[in-house]
Amino acid sequence: MSTIELRNVTKYFGSLAAARDVDLSVGAGETVCLLGPSGCGKTTTLRIVAGLEAASAGDVYIAGKRMNDLTPAQRDIAMVFQFYALYPSLTVAENVAFPLYYERLSATERDRRVRKAAETLDLTAVLNRLPGQVSEGEKQRVAVARAIVRDPNCFLFDEPLSRLDVELRHTMRGQIKEVLTSLSKATVIVTHDQLEALTMADRIAIMRDGRIEQVASPHAIFAKPANVFVAGFIGTPQMNLIEASFAEVAEGEAELAFGDQRLRLPVEGAARALSKGKTMTFGVRPRAFTLAGAATERTISGQVELIEPMGAETLFHVRCSGLDIRVVVPREIRVKPGHILHLACDPGQVHFFDAEGRAVQ
Ligand code: ATP
Repeated sequence: MSTIELRNVTKYFGSLAAARDVDLSVGAGETVCLLGPSGCGKTTTLRIVAGLEAASAGDVYIAGKRMNDLTPAQRDIAMVFQFYALYPSLTVAENVAFPLYYERLSATERDRRVRKAAETLDLTAVLNRLPGQVSEGEKQRVAVARAIVRDPNCFLFDEPLSRLDVELRHTMRGQIKEVLTSLSKATVIVTHDQLEALTMADRIAIMRDGRIEQVASPHAIFAKPANVFVAGFIGTPQMNLIEASFAEVAEGEAELAFGDQRLRLPVEGAARALSKGKTMTFGVRPRAFTLAGAATERTISGQVELIEPMGAETLFHVRCSGLDIRVVVPREIRVKPGHILHLACDPGQVHFFDAEGRAVQ
């Protein structure tokens, strides 16, 4: 079974912990994206799986076998890098066939596998061209074909699409996902592009400062972020995260206070246990606000400072007790800078975080 498992993996570069106690399992046929800001330890973690970097502590298992002391070649992994490094003097077919030269295969079998990989990635028409004679998207597909031409234990991708333009990225995301689904291998993809992670991953592992903050399906990461960091990292425009004091004022009703604003909301379950008067954070995505006709105890109010058209929608920056609140509305709603808006939020879409920043569901 093609699986990847990291147990308590830590990596120090001098005194810097690039990966800390990383636990991660990737099941057979599953794609996990490592996502996080620059320097959070994504590539280091991937390189440890590949055997290009030795862990300072912890264990790496691939297909159930401990890999710590095995070389990259012995791990039988196919890796696709950001810089796909094709051999310029070899044809596309020869580039794709390259990893097979290390395996003792007949020329017929080699040829069969190259054709199959080329068919999968729609490269049959360019097999006899040199890399200099194909497009950027085709070069990227050659790199993927070169990875799938063998039958490796698992796939590792390091920012595979970051050099492509927006449109090509979009197409390639779909194509790679389709190929990965058909191959049923454990796959880890490193990316800092959340759209890439949201569209390609079965699960996303969000990293910060060498640690995994949350691992969950794209939907769960978006709908139920485990903490303030994940909430602010996933979603565009970014979720509004507002520090407020919390007081339950009636059965199942709370008042959130920040600056001169007061907002009454129904609260259920664990959120009711938030300490009265203590600081907490509530999060509202920009699309979870609606515009109300007048100020009530269930709205917050502020002045529109900046308007950013986004095509079908418009992003308003609303100055609210000194905070920049981002609100996305359909483009038909037109107001001018300086206008006062009253914002109501769907209580079902409000996220609560305790004083330590952990989600309270
Ligand atoms: P990016 O998105 O920018 O590629 P990343 O999340 O992949 O970032 P890593 O490349 O894993 O991050 O780096 C994690 C931390 O380890 C960073 O602070 C980086 O500077 C440091 N680091 C990485 N490789 C080395 C090395 N060989 N020697 C010393 N420090 C390193």
